[in-house]
Amino acid sequence: MTALTNLLDLDPAQLIAYCNELGEKPFRAKQLQRWIHQFGASNFEDMTDLAKSLREKLSGRAYVAAPAIISDHTSTDGTRKWLLDVGQGNAVEAVFIPEERRGTLCISTQAGCAVNCRFCSTGKQGFNRNLSVGEIIGQLWMAEFELRKSKGVEPGPKGERQITNVVMMGMGEPLLNFEPTVTALRLMLDDNAYGLSRRRVTLSTSGVVPMIDKLSQECPVALAVSLHASNDALRDSLIPLNKKHPLNELMAACKRYLEFAPRDFVTFEYCMLDGVNDTDQHAKELVQLVKNVPCKFNLIPFNPFPESGLTRSANPRIKAFAQVLMDAGVVTTIRKTRGDDIDAACGQLAGEVQDRTKVQERMKKMDEYKRKFGENFGKIVEVTR
Ligand code: SAH
Ligand code: SF4
Repeated sequence: MTALTNLLDLDPAQLIAYCNELGEKPFRAKQLQRWIHQFGASNFEDMTDLAKSLREKLSGRAYVAAPAIISDHTSTDGTRKWLLDVGQGNAVEAVFIPEERRGTLCISTQAGCAVNCRFCSTGKQGFNRNLSVGEIIGQLWMAEFELRKSKGVEPGPKGERQITNVVMMGMGEPLLNFEPTVTALRLMLDDNAYGLSRRRVTLSTSGVVPMIDKLSQECPVALAVSLHASNDALRDSLIPLNKKHPLNELMAACKRYLEFAPRDFVTFEYCMLDGVNDTDQHAKELVQLVKNVPCKFNLIPFNPFPESGLTRSANPRIKAFAQVLMDAGVVTTIRKTRGDDIDAACGQLAGEVQDRTKVQERMKKMDEYKRKFGENFGKIVEVTR
């Protein structure tokens, strides 16, 4: 018996090829794709405009399934977080962040991460495995239709789209899981699937230089680069990958990327670590570093976890740091952390959930963190410019 095919694993071209193997015309693949990605259908019987014979063929050899939901929590600020089972005791997370005129989904691309940045709890758990296309796009598929269900919004193109933006800022380094990530990106952009504009899909990388170039050729979307340091010595100590791809190479890659990017700037993410990378001197050094790269800065207040031995810069320090950048003409925002009460902030995603029995433990741990770091753990006042 041949294994069943998960149709979420197939990009538009592959679905056409798959239908071709079944003796079906390309337009059938389009119909099928719309049922799956626009109506959230997983039962072939519901796909009423497909011939009965095709539906029967599909039932015998294919299925549509996203990773199973282990838990589903909504924060008091509306942020919703799903913990998803990707097998063998591994779990990843997807986080939905509602804002006034948009809904952003933060998705994961790997279980764990091999880059092992000093400030990241995903990195601390080591690398478990790459996610498949179905597991990556499945996060969007599941989240879009779960959100619609809870809000009573009908499926299909007529129902109001809940997810308008996607950021690959969850667990894992997307450029170290390149092919599945790009296939999932293609589905996000496809008009017969999610039809998101390239500008509304952001890939965040710790700086895998050759893959930044590859992305610019294969599927340029908005690019965010995790910078976190203003010189190589400091960056080497925070992001081991920097030893392989140092800052001058990274800056050059960003400039090259912009020739193909849907936006005319790169977003630099900068995690604010008390006493490590947050002085005015660092900010001034950054201004020099990026002077030839059109960019915006997004300062991320560090989300502490005890094993890191690091702490978050105080709010006034973050504001002063932002001011140095802004005075030099660099557009800078400070990320407001969201979903604190459900542990949904950056770098806290499923940090230790290699085993589902640990989920409860983790929830308890959040209380412990609050006791340790104070009630304001995870909270920051957004700076208005
Ligand atoms: N691997 C990719 C994308 C996932 S991490 C990358 O590194 O860019 C998404 C963002 O969260 C990155 O900018 C990362 O540096 C940041 N981050 C990781 N751990 C964090 C923490 N503990 N506090 C704040 N931001 C963190
Ligand atoms: Fe991996 Fe990104 Fe975490 Fe670094 S910050 S360990 S690259 S997920």
